This record gives sequence, structure tokens and C-alpha cells, in this order.
Amino acid sequence: MMFWMGGAGHAPGPMDDFIANTKGATATGSNEMRAVVKELNHQIARLSLLNQALWELLHEKLHLSQEELEAKAREIDLRDGIEDGRVTDVALKCPACGRVSNSRHHKCLYCGQLFEKPLFG
Ligand SMILES: [Zn+2]
Repeated sequence: MMFWMGGAGHAPGPMDDFIANTKGATATGSNEMRAVVKELNHQIARLSLLNQALWELLHEKLHLSQEELEAKAREIDLRDGIEDGRVTDVALKCPACGRVSNSRHHKCLYCGQLFEKPLFG
């Protein structure tokens, strides 16, 4: 099953079509854009459903609290150095080995060093 997480790379998706369509947008492009927005809405609805299902399972089976969920969300949000309710990929230079990892991860992909606070490479 496809999930919203775990992909290090960028898989082409509807947003790429949307961006391609908006370059040199024409009147005929608006129908295509509507179709893309509809598809994005569908994907968001599906991800929201899966997210809800995962959270309810975690809550029921592992007794995780709402506070723990919110604390983790905030921690992940802050990995890029900005508390804005979303994850933005930022290149992080590892203070231990000097190689560059992605802010989506909580530790260096190469040596395992934990990124305890936001770092800017
Ligand atoms: Zn490292």
C-alpha cells in the first residue's frame, strides 16, 4: 500500500502536472487544472482517512495520548527550524560526520548522529 511517508526521493505526482500546466497556462488548461485539483482532493481525503486509522490503532493498541501525538508533530515540524505546521525538506549537515542528510529524518543517515535541534547545513 502506498503511504505518505518514507519516500526519500520525489515521485512524480499530480502536483507536477499542475505545475507543468500553469507554465504558459491557457483557457483550455483550466479544465485540466480542475481535474488535477479534484485528484489532489481525492488523495488528501484518502491520506486523512489512513492517518485517522493509524492514529486510532496507535491510541487503542499502544495507548498513546493526544499530547504525545501533538508533541511528536511539533518536534517533526521544528526539524526544518520553522514551526509552521508542515515539514519542509532542508539539507542538514551532520555535526559528527559532516555529510548531508535530510531534515525529514531525526538522525544522520550515515553515522546515526541524532539531530536534537534544528541544524542548518
Ligand atoms: Zn553523520
